[in-house]
Amino acid sequence: MPVIYVLDAFEPSGLQYLADQNQSFVPFGDPRGINWHQDAVGIMIRGSQLSADDFARARKLKVVSKQGVGVDNIALSAAREHGVIVCNTPGINSAAVAELAFTLAMAVARRVSEFDRMIRSGSKIVRPRYLGRAMHGKTIGFIGMGNIGTQAARLFRGAFDCRILAYDPYAPMGHWGDIPHVRIADLEELWPQVDVLSLHVPLTDTTRNIVDRAAIARMKPSAIIINVSRGGLIDELALADALRDGKLFGAGLDAFEEGEPPSRSNPLLAFPNVLATPHAGAGTIETQADSSLATARQLLHVLAG
Ligand code: NAD
Repeated sequence: MPVIYVLDAFEPSGLQYLADQNQSFVPFGDPRGINWHQDAVGIMIRGSQLSADDFARARKLKVVSKQGVGVDNIALSAAREHGVIVCNTPGINSAAVAELAFTLAMAVARRVSEFDRMIRSGSKIVRPRYLGRAMHGKTIGFIGMGNIGTQAARLFRGAFDCRILAYDPYAPMGHWGDIPHVRIADLEELWPQVDVLSLHVPLTDTTRNIVDRAAIARMKPSAIIINVSRGGLIDELALADALRDGKLFGAGLDAFEEGEPPSRSNPLLAFPNVLATPHAGAGTIETQADSSLATARQLLHVLAG
């Protein structure tokens, strides 16, 4: 009788591990998955939603193993109430997400997607009108310096000798000792200084709209905003207004408030200096294989007690 249900598409390494351990499981897409509430003891998920009702119905459930970091798709208090352990795979995808933050910043700074679209559409390109921004020696502000923020800071510092400003009131002192940086205690100090602002915090009540209209208004018009974390961290209407008024150089967004990818009618997509990706931060072949395996291993580890 199957005890583990895989509710999202996973890279095969995790499922192969379950098979190697002679573990009975129902893979993603199998019609039996519809009835997972009846006998699931363990669940592997990525982005699927697990509601309070799911936890109330799944009487045998002991563990939810989530691939990735963010657990905002899971009703955690209901899981606690029903004694279900929720685990994730922090750190495994950090390098890949940090690489995307760096890539988006560079691509926006050098107008890569803008030029690509112009070339494909046969537009006449008057290059002096489309100058990019250099990155060397620039000031990069990080909100959130956990696993991903730290790795992204290392990339910018190593590649371009950037000045790193770090805002993370919860991180222990000395946590990023190997990265020369200035620790910022008050966000009001951060906004006017940054050439690139990179967000690496979870979405919580305190971080929702952490980049609000007032913050954007205090930033340099040459600044670039990068969000590879969660939609909801930026006031998107304020961002669109600033881009329309030429108050920012551009933005690189892997996360959107309304969904990933966002619908084509999202006003941000009308700006050529917005580079959008579909929550693809962890989307490397290497990372998917590693984290699929870790999700399966972790699940069996918890079930083994
Ligand atoms: P992490 O837990 O290692 O780091 C988060 C940091 O944010 C911590 O150091 C914490 O102290 C800090 N923080 C929390 N609240 C804060 C606040 N109000 N102000 C400033 N700092 C605050 O997490 P991580 O692995 O670095 O992930 C960061 C974000 O990236 C999460 O939102 C996660 O969901 C997202 N993420 C996105 C992708 C993607 O594909 N785009 C993949 C993985 C993770």
